[in-house]
Amino acid sequence: MLDYVSLEADLDEEERMIRDTAREFVEERIKPDIGEHYEAGTFPEELIPEMGELGFYAPNLEGEEYDLLGVSETAYGLLMQELEAGDAGIRSMASVQGALVMYPIHAFGSDDQKAEWLPRLARGEAVGCFGLTEPEHGSNPSAMETRAERDGDEYVLNGSKTWITNSPIADVAVVWGRDTSAEDNPVRGFLVETDRDGVSTNKIDDKLSMRASVTGEIGLSNVTVPEENVLPGVEGMKGPLSCLTQARFGIAWGAVGAARDCFETARQYATDREQFGGPIARFQIQQQKLAEMATQITTAQLLAYRLAELKERGDLRPQHVSMAKRNNVRMARDQARIAREMLGGNGITTDYSPMRHMSNLETVYTYEGTHDIHTLVLGQDLTGIAAFEG
Ligand SMILES: Cc1cc2nc3c(=O)[nH]c(=O)nc-3n(C[C@H](O)[C@H](O)[C@H](O)COP(=O)(O)OP(=O)(O)OC[C@H]3O[C@@H](n4cnc5c(N)ncnc54)[C@H](O)[C@@H]3O)c2cc1C
Repeated sequence: MLDYVSLEADLDEEERMIRDTAREFVEERIKPDIGEHYEAGTFPEELIPEMGELGFYAPNLEGEEYDLLGVSETAYGLLMQELEAGDAGIRSMASVQGALVMYPIHAFGSDDQKAEWLPRLARGEAVGCFGLTEPEHGSNPSAMETRAERDGDEYVLNGSKTWITNSPIADVAVVWGRDTSAEDNPVRGFLVETDRDGVSTNKIDDKLSMRASVTGEIGLSNVTVPEENVLPGVEGMKGPLSCLTQARFGIAWGAVGAARDCFETARQYATDREQFGGPIARFQIQQQKLAEMATQITTAQLLAYRLAELKERGDLRPQHVSMAKRNNVRMARDQARIAREMLGGNGITTDYSPMRHMSNLETVYTYEGTHDIHTLVLGQDLTGIAAFEG
């Protein structure tokens, strides 16, 4: 596996173990039939508890009482890298469950909410989803229209969310909406069990990207939840945005995994495939492609490792994560296309991974803040001037 500047030589025992466990899981449980799932547009749901048993959901969070492992941020990053080397749909499942559902419950939830949900989510006995995006509000979620109106010791929720990973198979949704009963209508997080009256979770079927992942809507029509279902520890957009910083950290690592799998596939293919009397790897044009791919993957990997160091010591800023998400996903998207090209006609089939990764990366480039939005985040950080509204 490509690790050109020997970053993995410095891993500790636990990090190595997590990398190896995830790599083996991907080899044995994902790679054999991910192409079929991709074509069918299905997620291998039977793997959800298995991934829980292996500790793939938020292992970087602390709390033995909730079955959380408290591993290093590098270990968590490596896990995301290995899962996305299998498929971004598998990594998305673990990212959403861990960074977008367990993280807010862990960081902002009450003791009762933590006790009720964290162990079940960690074990994969329950599935969670994160409802922020709305049909009319994607890049600007602060304009959300979902409303929660207090009624005695309950809240009544109305609104609709879309493009929600896992919503059709979720037991609980972290829904972000404006509390219209409080001054200035602050954004609050609500834990909404999906079997409550008035909740619908229609599946979105017509995707050409991220096909081995379940995506849906969340409809909320006069849904009543008790006050105890509000996340008590946060108010305002910093709630959902802090979750996104966690998830984007994992994406910056995951994209490296997808790109590495494309590289390894292309390198092997170039060595095996013969044209004009010998392997295509002997042509300078093909070597140039591999050299560029290896260089781009290695520099993205370095950025991901540095991010983990900063996160570990509490110095990671959301803007650092924006830079890494923006760079690493663009890198992976570009390199997946080059790998696909090196495979010739065979490259457009599900027998090989690059085209599947390439198509997945269209979603990864768009979700969790589009490439453009992260450009504006960096632009604001570098100049002090926000250009979001033109
Ligand atoms: C498969 C999939 C899974 C997803 N999972 C989830 C999930 O689990 N939970 C969730 O809440 N959301 C999820 N999303 C939604 C995702 O985060 C949004 O699609 C994303 O934020 C972009 O919003 P949008 O699609 O409405 O695009 P828009 O915001 O309408 O953007 C359209 C285009 O305009 C550009 N643009 C927008 N504003 C500006 C600006 N100020 N300056 C320059 N260009 C701009 C964008 O970059 C983009 O190119 C998912 C999306 C997909 C495709």
